[in-house]
Amino acid sequence: MESIIAIDAGTTSSRTIAFNKKIEQLAISQFEFTQIFPKKSWVEHDPNEIWETQLKAIKEVLKNDKIDVEKIKSIGITNQRETTVIWNRDNGKPIYNAIVWQDRRTAKMCENLSNQTTTFLEKTGLVLDAYFSGTKVKWILDNVEDARELADKGKLAFGTIDTWLIWKLTKGKVHVTDVTNASRTLLFNINTLQWDDELLDILNIPKELLPKVVSSSEIIGHTDSSLFGKKIPISGIAGDQQSALFGQMCIKEGDVKNTYGTGCFCIMNTGKKIIKSKNRMLSTIAWKLNNEVTYALEGSVFIAGAIVQWLRDKLNIIKNASEIENLAKQVDDNGGITFIPALSGLGAPYWNPNATGTIFGLTRDSNKSHIARAALEAIALRSREIILEMQKDAGFEFAELKVDGGASKNDLLMQVQANLLNKDVVRSKSPESTALGAAFFAGLSVGFWKNIEEIERLWEKDITYHPESDSKKTQIVIDEWNKRIKMING
Ligand code: ADP
Repeated sequence: MESIIAIDAGTTSSRTIAFNKKIEQLAISQFEFTQIFPKKSWVEHDPNEIWETQLKAIKEVLKNDKIDVEKIKSIGITNQRETTVIWNRDNGKPIYNAIVWQDRRTAKMCENLSNQTTTFLEKTGLVLDAYFSGTKVKWILDNVEDARELADKGKLAFGTIDTWLIWKLTKGKVHVTDVTNASRTLLFNINTLQWDDELLDILNIPKELLPKVVSSSEIIGHTDSSLFGKKIPISGIAGDQQSALFGQMCIKEGDVKNTYGTGCFCIMNTGKKIIKSKNRMLSTIAWKLNNEVTYALEGSVFIAGAIVQWLRDKLNIIKNASEIENLAKQVDDNGGITFIPALSGLGAPYWNPNATGTIFGLTRDSNKSHIARAALEAIALRSREIILEMQKDAGFEFAELKVDGGASKNDLLMQVQANLLNKDVVRSKSPESTALGAAFFAGLSVGFWKNIEEIERLWEKDITYHPESDSKKTQIVIDEWNKRIKMING
């Protein structure tokens, strides 16, 4: 059977999934790799381990009975974004571990550059933060012996994880990234779609280091024939959130998806326009397809499923995450409790790093089910705030919310989300929207699927949660939340 292979290079594991034309999953393989914490707030990965685990996952999928290697049409790649690798072009060896998106070592560097905030924002759509690749690249050049000299001589290559894996898959023949990954580096101008000389100058990064930027859906090269017994085209690349947006078929202006994991990642398709947020949401590239760029607005909630982990690990009121649903269902409402989940400050639209978590409204009748319910409401209320701010920034009203991620399996949470937004919440049949997006990008450029319309017809919903009619009850939850969150924000 013909298939497309999606490489999903995540933050904690390397996964590979094969899909057929009907978007059915034929085979999957996944291997975790080591998280390295050399110092407080530093997070690294070994790029060779990422490659080895990824290669193992691909080979495992190819061994599956349902996969005919001769009939693999192409490979698509999606990856943890911003994570930065620099390697030597001559021997392919990384000169330092990959610095992961979570790593905060360049926070001070960003502070010192704060007079350039507007320049970065205007050109890249991003806030100047340690999260993005730019200052991580500078850190490696400044701190690894001989790095700067080698970089100036053109001996080094920079890449995000997509770039690194493609380099390895093509045995050093291809050095590229796609527009979505480039748009997370702080070095790429999202207006001109070019690496930006002024920004490179500010960060003192030589242009020789940088990969060529390609679209999200085109053949950029072939795997080396020594790897899988035949050359396979590589024809799709996108960062994980953008890939999930496409995998959820959020292809029209205003379409929006929210991923409920440890945090929530919300991203809205804003069409051909770059929307400048008034609330420090990020403007970013959704994809470049058929020579047309689509932009997006992105916001995140730092603590979402993490509240559930906190209830499990610190309060011990549940043994595993999925138990929260039944616990919360034992009560009809939150019993007057509001849970402000500011366990590590509060992000958009408050941007208060010093806020701490608070449980309001406890009485002698309060029990753990009320707390569980208020915790689920908190995830949905924070997501609602982000989505409404985005909607305001973008100036269009979204029709429905597409959802994925571990906590989206929680029916009560999804129902609460639908009630709070007063919009349908739609969970897709495939739980693998991220990998699916990469497969779609790869498949479109080799004619596996003729066009987006064909994919749209194949894409299936699992469940739609419609808002319940008791809007009065919902309004009380919102009013209490608004009143109480103001109290902790002064
Ligand atoms: P990540 O990719 O961030 O690791 P996942 O998509 O795997 O996250 O989702 C895991 C997160 O979702 C955890 O924080 C966990 O507490 C939460 N979670 C998992 N299942 C449920 C559930 N049924 N209800 C609520 N939260 C859940």
